[in-house]
Amino acid sequence: MSDNYDVIIIGGGPGGYVAAIRCAQLGLNTACIEKRINKQDEPALGGTCLNVGCIPSKALLDSSWKYHETESALADHGIKVKGADLDLETMLKRKDTIVKNLTGGIAQLFKANKVTWLQGTGQLKSGKQVEFQPLDGDTQTLQAEHVILAAGSVPVDIPVASVDQKVIVDSTGALDFDKVPKRLGVIGAGVIGLELGSVWGRLGSEVVVLEAVDDFLPAVDKQIAKDAQKQFTKQGLDIRLGARVTGSEVKKDQVVVSFTDKDGEQEETFDRLIVAVGRRPYTEGLLSQDAGVTLDERNYIYVDSQCRTDVPGVYAIGDLVRGPALAHKAIEEGVMVAEVIMGESTQLNYDTVPGVIYTHPEVAWVGKTEEEAKDSGDAYKTGAVPFAANGRAMAAGETGGMVKFVADEKTDRILGMHVVGPQASELIQQGVIAMEFGATVEDLQLMVFGHPSLSETVHEAALATDFKAIHVAQRRRKK
Ligand code: FAD
Ligand code: NAD
Repeated sequence: MSDNYDVIIIGGGPGGYVAAIRCAQLGLNTACIEKRINKQDEPALGGTCLNVGCIPSKALLDSSWKYHETESALADHGIKVKGADLDLETMLKRKDTIVKNLTGGIAQLFKANKVTWLQGTGQLKSGKQVEFQPLDGDTQTLQAEHVILAAGSVPVDIPVASVDQKVIVDSTGALDFDKVPKRLGVIGAGVIGLELGSVWGRLGSEVVVLEAVDDFLPAVDKQIAKDAQKQFTKQGLDIRLGARVTGSEVKKDQVVVSFTDKDGEQEETFDRLIVAVGRRPYTEGLLSQDAGVTLDERNYIYVDSQCRTDVPGVYAIGDLVRGPALAHKAIEEGVMVAEVIMGESTQLNYDTVPGVIYTHPEVAWVGKTEEEAKDSGDAYKTGAVPFAANGRAMAAGETGGMVKFVADEKTDRILGMHVVGPQASELIQQGVIAMEFGATVEDLQLMVFGHPSLSETVHEAALATDFKAIHVAQRRRKK
């Protein structure tokens, strides 16, 4: 094994493995250090996202939705199914197979691109040296021209509900319950709480979500968040806002959770409890004392807009650094850094990174919310149109939700797009593309959208910002 590389990447998640492949494509002699051991006790690439995050959670979201549809939603279409049986073991095995295939695929891509996968733990030292502790064998000191730190993030722990991965679990444990909990508690009505709460709710759990703050999804456009909350509540998720957990006690195979809300002190007993109160950068053991890399006040590695740390030649990307903790943001930072290393002119437009919550309906957004537009003090306009006015949504029986645009009143530029509704994760990409090209609302108004399609609601929402929507009655604003 060589101990000299053009680039050494620590962490093989979506940020790290994509950076490695792009570096290799650009002709750099590249190694990626990854320490992860998967459920099958094998070394695995793909990080949180492929192993215990985006992919397994989406596999369960899709499977659980199919079960729920078969059980209850198909009758509306005139399809009567008698006694749909849940085979949880097969559902979980299917998820594991998808994960195995995808992570194995990354290993193949490394081979094809001649990226060296070093299985073990990496630590940055001074002078762009990296100490490598292999899974088996002695520690080695490696030297690189450039180092990319891509160690990702881990769940935040709260002392009032310590995770034991049996009764009280984090997101990883919540991907593998061996039976459907009768009563499931979730701490945190964020992305993970809503997605995994939905999975188990569809499979039959009675789900109670305890959220400390009073607002539901405070980072999401208020009108969209309100609509989403209404739909989730109708589906049976019991979302308690302003509920501060003060303690928990595991008693046999159950957990008693104490919390305070507007009515005072409360107690609930659950069969399982998911703690989903955020994630934090994973810097433990990553940096030696003389590494010279600066952390910010929240322990993220401090980087500039092109992911350079304070040490020349050392970069950091993904969940380790500022910005949303999202796989696609990590991926694009990985590509950007590889190209920066090669001296190419490149950048990432952080203003057009979309966010998606993969509930049903999905919630998706890009750019400014109406509240942010208001706070900016500049004149703005909005247009929102419900899917209830869309023929394709009616045909599919998916009429909940809406598309909303926020635009600059003077320049007509699109500032933000927000969706709650069917296929929001796909529809939002239209807003991303439009904003990336600096489109105005009028640009979208003048385009032809296929009929019938969910995308027509995007068109109508663009029309609605100027009171031109055809399929909804609009009240014209006074001039
Ligand atoms: P990671 O994916 O965390 O990878 C970092 C890797 O570095 C890990 O494998 C770790 O083992 C390794 N590592 C750490 N330290 C060392 C070291 N010292 N030496 C060697 N290796 C090391 N994001 C989305 O965009 N869409 C989603 O749908 C989505 N769903 C999610 C669902 C769940 C349940 C969770 C938990 C997260 C989800 N995310 C989603 C977030 C997404 O997983 C992260 O944003 C993404 O994985 C970050 O990528 P990364 O490369 O920065 O870090
Ligand atoms: P989150 O930040 O989305 O939500 C955490 C929630 O927990 C917040 O609403 C917060 O107010 C609440 N909270 C914090 N402390 C609490 C307490 N003591 N009691 C009750 N509520 C409390 O975090 P998450 O859901 O853990 O997800 C972590 C990150 O993973 C996300 O920020 C996201 O970046 C990423 N992720 C993304 C996706 C996706 O893109 N679809 C899916 C899952 C995870």
